Amino acid sequence: MTTPRSTPLDFSYETRPARVVFRSGASVTATPGEAARLGLHRVLVVCGSRGEEVARSVADALGDTCVGLHSGARMHVPVEVADRAVEVARAAGADGCVAVGGGSAIGLGKAIALRAGLPLIAVPSTYSGSEMTSVWGLTEHGVKRTGRDSSVQPRCVVYDPELTLGLPVPLSVTSGINALAHAVEALYAPDVSPIVTLMAEEGVRAMAGALPEVAAAPGDLEARGRALYGAWLCGACLGATTMGLHHKLCHVLGGSFGLPHAETHTVVLPYALAYNAPAAPRAIAVLARVLGTDDVPGALRELAGGLGAPRTLAELGLKETDLAAAATQAAAESYPNPREVTAHGVLGLLTAAYEGWEPRSEVF
Ligand code: NAD
Repeated sequence: MTTPRSTPLDFSYETRPARVVFRSGASVTATPGEAARLGLHRVLVVCGSRGEEVARSVADALGDTCVGLHSGARMHVPVEVADRAVEVARAAGADGCVAVGGGSAIGLGKAIALRAGLPLIAVPSTYSGSEMTSVWGLTEHGVKRTGRDSSVQPRCVVYDPELTLGLPVPLSVTSGINALAHAVEALYAPDVSPIVTLMAEEGVRAMAGALPEVAAAPGDLEARGRALYGAWLCGACLGATTMGLHHKLCHVLGGSFGLPHAETHTVVLPYALAYNAPAAPRAIAVLARVLGTDDVPGALRELAGGLGAPRTLAELGLKETDLAAAATQAAAESYPNPREVTAHGVLGLLTAAYEGWEPRSEVF
């Protein structure tokens, strides 16, 4: 294995004004103090229907500062769901929002921040990384629009490993690989910088090391803590850089073909990385060192598959007849990617991911 050369010293890096509190139990012990720190007196707690119990404990800890609990979050933030949440926030006279849950709950909190201008505190319970970005998403008539706006960046993120103890193993694994995908694409992003490389490297190390332990013992708080720590670092990479082909493909497969978010990231990542590998030698060298392998795409595929995650797009419900349309769509838009994106190349990538072939660069 070659020793990776350092990232060239020519970069821009913007630190975003997010405060992070990481501690076991912090969702209930730290959130009230964080709301007070932001000068908030009337916060609305939002969550998804399955996360209501956990969100209730945060709402209870907030006491009189909580003016309501709204459990209407849904995947990809349908616009009517956002409209309803904004109405609830306005009717309650909320001056801030606390989103408790995965990327869907945090996405709803961001929609409220965008529409009603309320500061957001995020209390994540998955490894999606949305809490570390200023990216919002809204879905209308089946089309998901996304954008960047500094007002949706959570003002504080409270990481509590205890919240993730109930995250089922299959979702822990796929959500963990979703996090790794942020770090992987950050390593070859046009706006990568030395600090992002460090965060990506440490994030991949923490997450890849923790996932087998989480899968073996889901109640192991220490392993859960390391996974969440990895998710934070990978999410910070996502927030600091511009993602490439992998994220674009997953956006297309989720948005236009209804595939599930974390599972799609899990299946596609080894193939997207194999596609990009010839044009991203520095990223591959960093990942090879961290993962201790000469075959990074294969190792990522084995990490997830060995823990029971789906290995093919067919398993996720994609139809063979959809492959060409998905490839055309993913190749039509322009976004930065280390290797040229062609419809033919993406079709090869998607076919390999659909069939579950070995993720090898030579195939594409
Ligand atoms: P999710 O929030 O939809 O959660 C998946 C499922 O897990 C839900 O049913 C939820 O109720 C359940 N769940 C969450 N935490 C749990 C816990 N601790 N224990 C038990 N069950 C739990 O899925 P996700 O993968 O976290 O997020 C995906 C969404 O986030 C997508 O819409 C994606 O586009 C968005 N996202 C946005 C960004 C961004 O920067 N804007 C980044 C990443 C993801």
